[in-house]
Amino acid sequence: MLGLMQDWPLLMHKVLDHAAIQHPGREIISRSVEGPFHRTNYRDVRARALRVAQRLQRDGVQLGDRVATLAWNTWRHLEAWYGITGIGAIYHTVNPRLFPDQIVWILNHAGSRVLMLDLTFIPLIQQLAPKLEHIERFIILTDGAHLPETGLCNAVAYEDWLAEADGDFAWASFDERTAAGLCYTSGTTGDPKGVLYSHRSNVLHALACNQVDCLGLGVADRVMPVVPMFHANGWSLPIAAPLAGATLVLPGAKLDGASVHEIITETQVNFSAAVPTVWMMLLQHMEATGARIDTLKRVVIGGSACPAAITKTYQEKHGVRVIHAWGMTEMSPVGTTYQRKPEIGGLDPEAALALQAKQGCPPFTVEMKITNDAGQDLPWNGEVFGRLKVRGPAITRNYFRRENDAVLDADGFFDTGDVATIDAHGFMEVTDRSKDVIKSGGEWISSIALENAAVGYPGVAEAAVVAMHDPKWDERPLMILVMKPGAAAPDLAAMNGFLTDKVAKWWLPDDLVVVNEIPHTATGKILKTKLREAFKDHRPASR
Ligand code: ADP
Repeated sequence: MLGLMQDWPLLMHKVLDHAAIQHPGREIISRSVEGPFHRTNYRDVRARALRVAQRLQRDGVQLGDRVATLAWNTWRHLEAWYGITGIGAIYHTVNPRLFPDQIVWILNHAGSRVLMLDLTFIPLIQQLAPKLEHIERFIILTDGAHLPETGLCNAVAYEDWLAEADGDFAWASFDERTAAGLCYTSGTTGDPKGVLYSHRSNVLHALACNQVDCLGLGVADRVMPVVPMFHANGWSLPIAAPLAGATLVLPGAKLDGASVHEIITETQVNFSAAVPTVWMMLLQHMEATGARIDTLKRVVIGGSACPAAITKTYQEKHGVRVIHAWGMTEMSPVGTTYQRKPEIGGLDPEAALALQAKQGCPPFTVEMKITNDAGQDLPWNGEVFGRLKVRGPAITRNYFRRENDAVLDADGFFDTGDVATIDAHGFMEVTDRSKDVIKSGGEWISSIALENAAVGYPGVAEAAVVAMHDPKWDERPLMILVMKPGAAAPDLAAMNGFLTDKVAKWWLPDDLVVVNEIPHTATGKILKTKLREAFKDHRPASR
């Protein structure tokens, strides 16, 4: 027997409708790409999103078509998302930090018909346009007064294009499982893979994020996603914030420490989210200038492991609660967050920080397990580590246009590519990417644990650990350091002395090199493939 409740599909535009009805005047404040701050609200964003939908339809964009965006976080990008999805088309966020060839590959693979881009990216797209096979029209996210001569086919200023629609339009209706968004993983190994979100997965994921022990946005929050909308759905904040009726602050193109500080204080942001590098840059700015961030109360730090030193400084010096989060594009993306479970009881400050350094616990909608290579479940004791696998309604089951690839295990779990422990309280801790783990004498050494410990050494700006070949153990760790300006670099003995009480003795690196710069991926993670290549013939002096 079926229940007798209404069939009310979970659609993206219902989130915006709710925000516009319940919180019409709640502000959306952006740093515009043109320069000045811009203020609007949910009522007006909805009205303009309806015009985007109407105008796209007039351009022949239909259900299932992809509309690409190459854009910073601004009100126009937000309107575009809801306008595109409001006719059942798919927003395809493109990460401008990828290599130009990858951008071409992704746009062609996605078959996107329209490209909406910020002024910033005109030179890049002018260079790539001849190779783009499916783009019929370029919409520049600006007004006529700021539109330069681009030479791009059918180029138009967004505001002029939008002015041709009167907004007398109704959202289309379709199944909640209809595709809504497309985001490619950065493809540090092999071709990028397209993750195709649905309306249902986006809405359920935003609801899950808004649980109080996850991101927990509320109506009084002033939320700034520094994490770009082109990076894994902007960690759901462009959906979770209107769902909660929270004020949204969108930082545009300026993401350096001084600019992030300025927008936080000018617009009184109390909640923000970004990768550790952004929080490090903000700290450096505050250390250099003595500036403060008194309005900021909670920050989500994720995308790569958040070093305990950052958590400690934000919490103890600035009164900001750090929510360490883990996730991935394939998970919409939030997978776990730090949760203060009461059964853990009082912890001394060091133990509390160590717990926060773990990636945390999943919200309802995410199930997880760890297995060995044979797929057998491993115990949750915080020590044994294995392949981390996840299952849930906002987790990928197949990649776009690779529907025949087997992605899930027999029980429907997705292998995250991470290696992790889970403790008795359910706290997951990533010990490595499965391809980065160092296999020494048949045992696994966590490169991340070594890196996190090493950045606690005075003067170390960044640390990376990769495997080097060893005739006896197969692989042994090599530590690569970048020092802060003017800081003296430790030698191997000094570093290993420092690490001795932090990691197992047999994990200690066999060699250490100091470099000026460590390469990063387009999403800010250490580019291990490049480091492994650069140091593939490296041997310790002692050998
Ligand atoms: P990519 O960078 O490959 O495009 P994502 O941006 O989706 O992929 O990154 C997902 C990966 O980032 C995770 O599988 C994990 O390895 C890493 N990651 C994300 N958050 C954390 C975290 N808090 N701690 C450690 N690793 C993290």
